[in-house]
Amino acid sequence: MNEREPPTDDRRARSLLAALTVLLGAVLLLAEFAPGATAVLPYSEFRTRVQAGRVSSVVIGDRMIRGRYRRPATAAPPRPRSPMDFEVVRVADPQLIPMLAEKGVAFEGTADARWLSWSLTAGLMLLAMLLLGRWLLQRVQGPTGGVLSFGKSRGRVAGEKEVTVRFDDVAGVDEAKRELLEVVEFLRDAERFKRVGARIPRGVLLVGPPGTGKTLLAKAVAGEARVPFISLSGSEFVEMFVGVGAARVRDLFEGAQAQAPCIVFIDELDALGRSRGGSGMGSNEEREQTLNQLLVEMDGFATNNGVIVLAATNRPEILDAALLRPGRFDRQVLVDRPDRSGRLAILKVHARTVSLAPDVDMETIALETTGYAGADLANLINEGALLAARRGASAATGADLQEAMERVAAGLERRSRVLSPDERRRVAYHELGHALVGEVLGGASRVTKVSIVPRGLGALGYTLKRPTEDRYLMTESELRAQLATLLGGRVAEALFLGEVSTGAASDLSQATEMARAMVVEFGMSQRLGALSLGRGRQIGDWGLLMENGGRSEHGGELADLVDTEIRLVVSTAESVARKVLEDRGPAVHSIAATLLEREHLDGGELRTLLEEAMRGDVAR
Ligand code: ADP
Ligand code: MG
Ligand code: ZN
Repeated sequence: MNEREPPTDDRRARSLLAALTVLLGAVLLLAEFAPGATAVLPYSEFRTRVQAGRVSSVVIGDRMIRGRYRRPATAAPPRPRSPMDFEVVRVADPQLIPMLAEKGVAFEGTADARWLSWSLTAGLMLLAMLLLGRWLLQRVQGPTGGVLSFGKSRGRVAGEKEVTVRFDDVAGVDEAKRELLEVVEFLRDAERFKRVGARIPRGVLLVGPPGTGKTLLAKAVAGEARVPFISLSGSEFVEMFVGVGAARVRDLFEGAQAQAPCIVFIDELDALGRSRGGSGMGSNEEREQTLNQLLVEMDGFATNNGVIVLAATNRPEILDAALLRPGRFDRQVLVDRPDRSGRLAILKVHARTVSLAPDVDMETIALETTGYAGADLANLINEGALLAARRGASAATGADLQEAMERVAAGLERRSRVLSPDERRRVAYHELGHALVGEVLGGASRVTKVSIVPRGLGALGYTLKRPTEDRYLMTESELRAQLATLLGGRVAEALFLGEVSTGAASDLSQATEMARAMVVEFGMSQRLGALSLGRGRQIGDWGLLMENGGRSEHGGELADLVDTEIRLVVSTAESVARKVLEDRGPAVHSIAATLLEREHLDGGELRTLLEEAMRGDVAR
């Protein structure tokens, strides 16, 4: 588990060694082939010289014969290690030995010494090539561990002491904290849960936009429970070589098991858990294997063994469904962008570590930073402190923070939406339009939340409605109420702001689809009567069967009639919505003001505000 990637120094040393080895090999080879001090004689010439009595001694090898000439008696005898005077390539000559004996040449045999230097050279070359190859492989694989660390997971094991994050450091995500508290309690005192036989969630998926504090929350869980925090990013699992990722997963869980109780945190789960059988691009097979291994591991470990897997993603919609099944990441915790009071709390958390002048008004900053995630707010405070430091001041002032906000906002505008005051107003009226029409017409569901905090990637604001009971059927009046609710946003914009905007596009397409289904599928039009003109059924957003988008087979006149009827259904719903909102004009304005200030209202608050406003209206 503690396998670390080789430090760069080490790797540099190794490549140096490889280069040296290659050099040495080359030198040895050259030495072999370089014309040495010894002259090479033709065999015939050798024979002639022996015959002439000029040769004093020879050493006969398998392939070569080396020898020395006779020296004049006055000359010093050759030192034993000095090079021979000549050498000859040996030929099959049966008269060689008799001739040497006859001429009084001293001779001895030897195994050719050359094979030794040859094999030494070859061995060194081989070694050099191996080293070089390994070095190249490492470069290809990137800095993520070489051949020897194949399949070793690089989970950073942070001991208990290293996790200093606590729940107090994470603000504005109270709901998520509440849900995770259970995990903390289990890790602290698993016995209590085991005694009752309660099954503890094995995997918890943190879902939310980037920078909202998912990683921070996961750490805080480990910090609160005082257990080790083993973290890995999904993209780290997916390697070039098939099978490596799977081995990593196996490794990771083995290590976790050894340290239980502990938290395993997989960041960017989507990089690994993308639904299988998607695009056939690249390392698809590798990712599938890795994902399968993860599923196997999560299923495999015994219940209540003290390892809890947390994962984070900002794209839950692309995750493989198998990951979300019971016993895996069956619990999902939404970590959304903070509302105004949440932003205030986050600002306060980050203000703890910087010194702020007394004129800094956190309330105002919180009010002006709609759409900022926790990371953006942390960034804002830091920028403010930097500006103060650059001025040489000892504390950041309100002006510093104001300037910091402008800087951060400029960066944010490129990445995501920061609404202008006019746009915020428009979003508030639009959402309120949906909410009030939905609330007044009732129907099968009640409004549970209205919000103007941008959510996810698409919506600028949203209105949540929840059915009051399980529904399998819907009546015509309920459908008409829903249709009016859908159109309520656009109607409110037209009524109270004078004109409509592009913000209602998806409302309109949903409404049209719904109206079409009412006319051609459900026989809810007076003039067409109980005819089913639909084709290609599918389950729609309302849990009902709907026509499959496109035109039906009915031609000419009938098609015109269908269009007219759809238009009639839509326009009727629109006038119902208009009536509802017109009757409550002053209430809409006062509730919109509250919504702009608070940024979200839950269903109860909305109902209370509506009642109060209507009562005041009647009294006036
Ligand atoms: P995510 O994992 O959701 O992308 P991070 O947890 O990495 O976001 O957040 C990055 C940084 O932003 C954190 O280290 C922290 O300083 C700050 N931050 C984000 N959300 C919060 C929050 N809810 N409360 C306090 N600080 C936050
Ligand atoms: Mg993160
Ligand atoms: Zn809308």
